[in-house]
Amino acid sequence: MKIVDIPSYLRDTVLRLFPHRAPTGIVRIGSPERDAPVLLTGNYTLTIRRVRRALEGIDAWLLVADSSGINVWCGAAGGHLTHHDVIAAIRTSGLDNLVSHRHLILPQLAATGVERRPIEEATGWQTRWGPARIEDLPKVLARGGSVLGSERRMRFPLWERLDMAAMWLLPMILIAVPILSVIGGWQAGLATAIMIGLTVPAVFAALPKLWVTGGRRWLTYAAFTAAGAAVGAGVLSLLDALSFTSLIVMVIVAAVAMVVLSVDLAGSTPMYPSTVNATVAGVPGIVLEADRCTGAADCIQVCPWAVLKMNSNPRRAGIVDPGACIACGACIVQCPEDALYFSFPDGRVVSPATVRSTRLNLLGARTVDLSDPK
Ligand code: SF4
Repeated sequence: MKIVDIPSYLRDTVLRLFPHRAPTGIVRIGSPERDAPVLLTGNYTLTIRRVRRALEGIDAWLLVADSSGINVWCGAAGGHLTHHDVIAAIRTSGLDNLVSHRHLILPQLAATGVERRPIEEATGWQTRWGPARIEDLPKVLARGGSVLGSERRMRFPLWERLDMAAMWLLPMILIAVPILSVIGGWQAGLATAIMIGLTVPAVFAALPKLWVTGGRRWLTYAAFTAAGAAVGAGVLSLLDALSFTSLIVMVIVAAVAMVVLSVDLAGSTPMYPSTVNATVAGVPGIVLEADRCTGAADCIQVCPWAVLKMNSNPRRAGIVDPGACIACGACIVQCPEDALYFSFPDGRVVSPATVRSTRLNLLGARTVDLSDPK
């Protein structure tokens, strides 16, 4: 990173926590002609900047739909970016007059909320799914829009995890340090800043190895809470300011930090499982009714975890790695034959209609009513 980028990096990092609206409509990237590709994104300022950066040297049209200033994944999964928004963007942007074709590349991570077919029926535009990550767009465009399996799969490299840690560090420190300073003096404030400054990046750096589901998830959080509190207590004892009260407060601050991080990660990124909260216990699995599959392959094009694969003869999708499913629902939303659904261990199912009509909340959970017959 160039030195001159640091102020804007800091600004963008802090602002990532909040909706950050850009105008909707058309953004020109380079000097696009009438036959240049058209890509869709939401009106989240930072995403638009990332797309611009990734497409440097390429001429393209960027159609910006209203996602309430939220990134594509969170916007689509939370119901802020739907096919209605895309249809509205196509109709109101004047795109029809700017280009000589009718082909729109949709971001793969919008598939939890943006249905492809209603867009085509309402506008006459043909749609296809782009890659999961913005960085792969140039390669996909160079191939004329075809996406490799590896480009459909999500990745969360270390630098991006540390970027997320940086996003959380500042607000946590700004909230916790003044409070702790008032309670326990400047020593407690300093210990808190060091504790958060070490623990939060450590959580993100270690996540791919440590992220677990079920009861062990809470053990992981407890271990990080204890480690964070130990760091804080160590700093306080070095400063000769350790007391029972300050130790308890350190444990509480570390635990709150872990809860905040776990809420941000669970279901709110395409890396970690969402939950389906229903009236029955257990974790739902993804189910495919093979007889209904007509080989459209939408499910395979939108799954960020390669859970599904296309078989030949007959051409039908198959579930190859059910354990990798993060219950995002994208495949269910997109299947034109309603061949996919979630099923709980007691046999009750979450129907495609229910998945399409319920959205993830801020905790990465869908609350569904299982009295709805499939
Ligand atoms: S198989 Fe699971 S992870 Fe893949 S798209 Fe469907 S719900 Fe999402």
